[in-house]
Amino acid sequence: MPTSARLVKSKTLVYLDHAAATPVRPEVLRSMQPFWTKEFGNPSTLYSLGQRAQQALTDARRAVAQVLQVDQTEVIFTAGGSESDTLAILGAARAFRAKHARGGHILTTTIEHHAVLAAAHAATELGIRLTLLPVNAEGFVSAADVRAAIEPDTFLVSVMLANNEIGTIQPIADIARIIQRQNSERHGTTQPHILLHTDACQAGGYLELAVPTLGVDLLTLNGSKVYGPKQTGVLFVRKGITLAPVVYGGGQERGLRSGTENVAGAVGFARALTLAQTTQAKEATRIARLRNTFAAQLLKQIPNSRMNGPALEATTTPTRRLPNNINVSFADCDGEALVIYLDAYNIAAATGSACATGSTEPSHVLQAIGLTPREVRGSLRLTLGMRTTAAQLQYALRAIKAVVAQQRRTTTMLA
Ligand SMILES: *Cc1c(COP(=O)(O)O)cnc(C)c1O
Repeated sequence: MPTSARLVKSKTLVYLDHAAATPVRPEVLRSMQPFWTKEFGNPSTLYSLGQRAQQALTDARRAVAQVLQVDQTEVIFTAGGSESDTLAILGAARAFRAKHARGGHILTTTIEHHAVLAAAHAATELGIRLTLLPVNAEGFVSAADVRAAIEPDTFLVSVMLANNEIGTIQPIADIARIIQRQNSERHGTTQPHILLHTDACQAGGYLELAVPTLGVDLLTLNGSKVYGPKQTGVLFVRKGITLAPVVYGGGQERGLRSGTENVAGAVGFARALTLAQTTQAKEATRIARLRNTFAAQLLKQIPNSRMNGPALEATTTPTRRLPNNINVSFADCDGEALVIYLDAYNIAAATGSACATGSTEPSHVLQAIGLTPREVRGSLRLTLGMRTTAAQLQYALRAIKAVVAQQRRTTTMLA
């Protein structure tokens, strides 16, 4: 194949799938290591070894609370984003059902992560109604639509802070104001108090996470998207909110998440989140500049390609789209095949044509923003990260051009 033959395969991996996983930072790894070996004690025990573990957990909780600008008693350590989402949604649903024999309504959107969508569907088994709000062509949900969809027995609204496929940043603070107004009108009535949950897993590296500004009651974060360990994360639970647990046992984490605490995980998560938030503003600017140049070249140099999701913003504070996200569709291409051919060039990318478990279910997000099945099939998601360089992106550009051209030639030959 003449076009691709001229491009020599990179010896090192060009990793462009940071929305799926990030490598653990060396300083995060170092902070964790003692708690697997020397300092292995169970934090619930009374002797010094256990108490040192308890202290490490407390310090980690305090660090997370400081980042979120919340009280440390409001931080619940979990085993990741999916668990935090499940605890928020199913926990709120079961707590509602414990207080109210009938009714109950949850409002969320069509482009949430599967953890939110599946937990919300599970809540319908308790007789709770579910509304999935549509989004516009850029993936935005409107605060006015949220207001219009609230029902007298709505007790939970869940809207993600930033989307993992197309990078849309939702107007959470606007939605929070609407819910606050509703709640003050409901005060003293029999109508339930409405909780606002946001899944902020993708936002930690690029957006400010101050809960007082966001105005949410429940917030999900995980370690694996902020250069921390997988299966770590937190759920922020505003003081005074009752959730039912989804993991039962010894009553750790204020009874909301039983099980011997993952001390090393909590320490690593806290360190990773703190570092991510310290560098957030600078990193957002750096990465948006790289992303914008790369995306413009992709669209210009590859005919019949389109950008999915919000328009790319200039390199200021991101307000509409995550600065590291690119999602493109190439006409007459198959995203999964592109990913496999790019792998042969030592490039890691993702497609919206396959779901997380590797099946070939087309992306619900790309469908929700109105892409045709062919456009969904030809989609490629490229998410940049901390170590992404301009040189890597120049190489990726050449490789993507080559594999798209090759696929299109093959398609034409078969037609
Ligand atoms: C990755 C991700 C999750 C799931 O987190 P896990 O830690 O893998 O369970 C949930 N929501 C969003 C937006 C994510 O990006």
